[in-house]
Amino acid sequence: MPDIIPFRAPLNWHYMAIHRCLDCNSTIKDSEKRCWACGSEIKPRDTAPKLSARFASAINFFFILSLVVTAASMFTDLMPPFLRCATVSGVLFLVRSSAGEMAQKKRKS
Ligand SMILES: [Zn+2]
Repeated sequence: MPDIIPFRAPLNWHYMAIHRCLDCNSTIKDSEKRCWACGSEIKPRDTAPKLSARFASAINFFFILSLVVTAASMFTDLMPPFLRCATVSGVLFLVRSSAGEMAQKKRKS
């Protein structure tokens, strides 16, 4: 699965995931909450930390991209105005740091 598509990858990962019963190892559908073979309860998968980590890396990617565009806007007229780029970079920086905090909190708990 390529990491280049940060917003599509978690969706594919979610729908393609097959999990197995911890007790009898039979294959279980995503929608099933109990094992059809042995009846043991299935714990919901821990998707949140992975999703927020992916979100954080996507934000990180856009932050770096906006920094590059901001730097480029100082030297060329082809890019959007410097102030607008700097504002976008600032907003992404704030989102990035709060997304990182969110991911860390979820990992710890
Ligand atoms: Zn089972």
